Amino acid sequence: MIVLKGAAVSAGIQAEVEEKLRELDGFVPTLAVVRVGERPDDLSYERSALARMKKFGLQGVSRSYPSDISMEEFRKEFEKINKDPGIDGILLLRPLPPQLDEKEIERLIDPAKDLDGISPENIAKVFSGDETGFAPCTAEAVIRMLKGYEIPIEGKRAVIVGRSMVVGRPLAMLLLKENATVTVCHTRTKNLEEVCRQGEILVAAAGRAGMITGDFLAEGAVAVDVGINVDEEGNLCGDMEFSSVSEKASMVTPVPGGVGGVTTAVLAEHLVRAALKRNEKR
Ligand code: NAP
Repeated sequence: MIVLKGAAVSAGIQAEVEEKLRELDGFVPTLAVVRVGERPDDLSYERSALARMKKFGLQGVSRSYPSDISMEEFRKEFEKINKDPGIDGILLLRPLPPQLDEKEIERLIDPAKDLDGISPENIAKVFSGDETGFAPCTAEAVIRMLKGYEIPIEGKRAVIVGRSMVVGRPLAMLLLKENATVTVCHTRTKNLEEVCRQGEILVAAAGRAGMITGDFLAEGAVAVDVGINVDEEGNLCGDMEFSSVSEKASMVTPVPGGVGGVTTAVLAEHLVRAALKRNEKR
């Protein structure tokens, strides 16, 4: 059984970013991480995203707002970032507090700066197989992980557990583009275990600690764990029970150390691509 390490794949993406940066002749692209409130998850993701930008020779700034900010005020602030020529890409940390209309922000964000693919324009591109936009970073990170380890996707039966707009759905489209035969599961899926066992590639993106055990795996399947959860002892863990899954799978991504790190590497790649596109227009 092979453990698919995110660090190896991220190193490959870093080399790509460095090459693209050279085309920018010393210009350093800037990411704005937009955060409302102080949720520990958001703070931790923000820290790792900013650290990754720095490591890749890019710049990152935090734009944070109080958790009780009104929609009117947030809209104004967001518009400023959207129009700021010093900002090349935006990462909006979600979920937003209930008084803020996430859908409105999705429509508002400049698609050219929308590095995590939340705008209708970028989502439409993902669904139509058009690679000129930005796919949600986590969904793309799964594809990068598979390709980074030269795992064939074409013609494979891929099963995804989870149908969110952040992971499951866009990932289904990206896998389809790679010519996999895709099944998307959710809480109403009947015989989940049996459906999962049909996957030659099984992706877990449910947000349920350890819910996928070895019984869900076909012998020799590739197991990709997108889940980031905290177990009863307070440790970070995925949606897969690593010990039993590794007995059945031919390859498995660990948590931590798997898809998570690749996600911020993809974010960096999107940032430099956004800057290059803006540069072409100047
Ligand atoms: P989400 O919006 O809560 O969606 C979870 C999906 O899983 C839903 O479609 C839900 O089905 C399905 N699901 C939940 N429990 C299930 C069960 N028992 N059986 C079958 N399906 C089930 O979560 P998300 O934002 O997509 O995130 C999923 C996981 O990925 C989380 O652990 C999150 O922390 C992690 N994540 C990781 C990264 C990364 O960088 N690696 C990035 C983003 C998210 P219904 O639609 O029927 O409710």
